[in-house]
Amino acid sequence: MGNESAESRTGLAVDLGGTSVKVGVVDSDGAVLAQEQIPTQTYEGPERVLERVAEAAIEAREAVGGQPVAVGIGAPGLVDVRRGIGRFLPNLGKEWAGFPIGDFLQARLGCPARLLNDVRTATLGELTFGHGKGRVGLTMAFFALGTGIGGGVVVDGRLRLGPDGAAGELGHMVVEPDGRRCGCGNSGCLEAYASAPALTGEGCRLLHSGQAPILYDIVGGDPGKIDPKTMSEAAKAGDKAVREAIEWAAGYLAIGVGNVVVALHPELIVLGGGMAGIGDLLFDVVRERVQRLDALVPMENVRIEPSALGDRAGLLGAGALALHGLEGQDD
Ligand SMILES: [Zn+2]
Repeated sequence: MGNESAESRTGLAVDLGGTSVKVGVVDSDGAVLAQEQIPTQTYEGPERVLERVAEAAIEAREAVGGQPVAVGIGAPGLVDVRRGIGRFLPNLGKEWAGFPIGDFLQARLGCPARLLNDVRTATLGELTFGHGKGRVGLTMAFFALGTGIGGGVVVDGRLRLGPDGAAGELGHMVVEPDGRRCGCGNSGCLEAYASAPALTGEGCRLLHSGQAPILYDIVGGDPGKIDPKTMSEAAKAGDKAVREAIEWAAGYLAIGVGNVVVALHPELIVLGGGMAGIGDLLFDVVRERVQRLDALVPMENVRIEPSALGDRAGLLGAGALALHGLEGQDD
């Protein structure tokens, strides 16, 4: 009987994004038992948005039955992990700064709420249910290569959050002195070179200057359809300039990954997000460049892999956060 109740442990998971919110029920094996997706509609403000999130969570909970042990929430930006309060969430809006996201959902859902940055949450998902599953004491880093570049760092099996939950902003390592301006206010950040908009911006330039004829055909001349995937297709089909643009971005990513490798000697680096969809063209460059560090940091046990969970990493991470919390992690 004790076994049965252990097997039926579930957590509510909320992956809060600027455009949409995924809500689900996750069990201790990492299965998503129910899932809903709703538009965020940030203009409504935190109270109304979270009211709808709670409604969706209640629906998902009723579809599965039973009482989840907690709700885990991944939010896009800086949050106060201890108090469950939003701090700087630019994709959601100013009103979210100081809003008690955790308390609000705890009151609506009748279970404890735990709040974490969204990419740190995805890192926890990868650690618990993805490549890190069952690997005790793993050291890993997660690069979320999307609109921006988020990150998460696990040291000796524990998500490293730092005193304010801000540790792991891997997209803002400087990879080019006095380089491009970044959204964070600094210059030369990895995000300014290897995020999806940085690459697709270059794709648009090549399209307009006539240097990407195959890409032009693939997107039907519509620059709005240029994304890492269509660029990867074009490069593989023979667009030389597009291939060089991808390799150029991958070269910067390799600098960022290499920096993490020399700092931590992790067993695992996970590259997730839309840019990872480029596939071998990206991974080959990163693996080959980082391999050059071998004399310094033996590379035979360092794997550089795409996410095992894909776009479910955030939701599953929120489930892991609900189920296991950050046990013994608040240092
Ligand atoms: Zn930056």
